[in-house]
Amino acid sequence: MVQNPISTQTKPETDNYLAEHSCPNCGHQGLSIFYEVRNVPVHSCLMMSTKEEALDFPCGDIVLAFCDRCGFINNIEFDPKWSAYAPHYEDQQSFSPTFNKFALDLANNLIEKYDLHDKHIVEIGCSKGDFLLLLCELGNNSGVGIDPSVVPGRVKSKAADRVTFIQDYYGEKHARYVGDFICCRHTLEHIQPTAEFISTVRKSIGDRHNVSFFLEIPDNTRVLQNLAFEDIYYEHCSYFSPGALARLFRACSFEVTDLYLDYGDQYLLIEAQPVDAPSDKVHPFEETVAQVAEDVRHFTRNIQSKLDNWRRNLEQWKAENQRVVVWGSGSKCVAFLTTLDTIDKIEYVVDINPHRHGKFIPGVGKEIMSPEFLKEYRPDKIIVMNAIYCDEIGQMLKEMGVETELIPL
Ligand SMILES: [Zn+2]
Repeated sequence: MVQNPISTQTKPETDNYLAEHSCPNCGHQGLSIFYEVRNVPVHSCLMMSTKEEALDFPCGDIVLAFCDRCGFINNIEFDPKWSAYAPHYEDQQSFSPTFNKFALDLANNLIEKYDLHDKHIVEIGCSKGDFLLLLCELGNNSGVGIDPSVVPGRVKSKAADRVTFIQDYYGEKHARYVGDFICCRHTLEHIQPTAEFISTVRKSIGDRHNVSFFLEIPDNTRVLQNLAFEDIYYEHCSYFSPGALARLFRACSFEVTDLYLDYGDQYLLIEAQPVDAPSDKVHPFEETVAQVAEDVRHFTRNIQSKLDNWRRNLEQWKAENQRVVVWGSGSKCVAFLTTLDTIDKIEYVVDINPHRHGKFIPGVGKEIMSPEFLKEYRPDKIIVMNAIYCDEIGQMLKEMGVETELIPL
């Protein structure tokens, strides 16, 4: 049960040096703890059918530790036994025009840059398959998508008959699926043995040096610098800055050919080519480990006052009987409400993904409503979990005739 008070503590990393822990990214012995959130749901996107089921959802702890050799950050309390992704794992983002435009631009860029026409593409962690199908549609490519939560047939596409979906976790048994181009989006942050995972991909490529590898994850530099606590949740056990990611790729015998941010600087993207040995070719966008350490110090110094501020605001709005709604029912919402321990201050959560409507959020227990619901509810305030969607949300509200205050996180 998520009944226990959720405590959030932050401590300077120097007070919490753990000599016995080794870094899953570079193998360095010794990590420093700098942030803790106890008793949070171990999943945020598994949809629950009843409120009871949602509130009974298992909980775990987040204890973030920093590696002072490679700059990688991971949750040392993460237990991979909770990493069960299934078809009712609902993380499809392609109901948002903003997201779709990003995906379309990205697909077109990759197709042009890597001449992905009549090629074979492998996507590791393809979610419901939207992006792979898009690449195959636009470039007349064929593909294989591997993901435990994939639902073949969910996404309608002209390329559907050229794409095979495998409902499974990626591993060595899938090494034969290489193709001409490998992509992996928003998957590595869910994996704890990061070096093992990237090495498995590298081994599968073997000596086919013309195979390119593209990977995308959230950028943790922004999380640290902007104190974006809503982006720290149990499902994400691994947190990368550009340098930490590039150092991992180079150590696993990839040469980093491009490293950049996109999607309002929220996402970190890397493009790499396999080489015969670990690469010492530093990409200009790699920050140093000392810079990450400085970001960690900034985070620990300031996070508590940000959390206190949000708690005060939510309590005040509740006391004033204001109707406050959260827009976005995914991981950010779960992290926002559970980190602040203010689930009772919000009555409703809204989402545009129709597969989420009528379902309940794990750990939070709120029913997810369609935006239409706001016509009748008339909220005073909507807290937007991702500022990038403010324009499209504003447009939807305008069309529905709902006047309210939008507050982006
Ligand atoms: Zn490390």
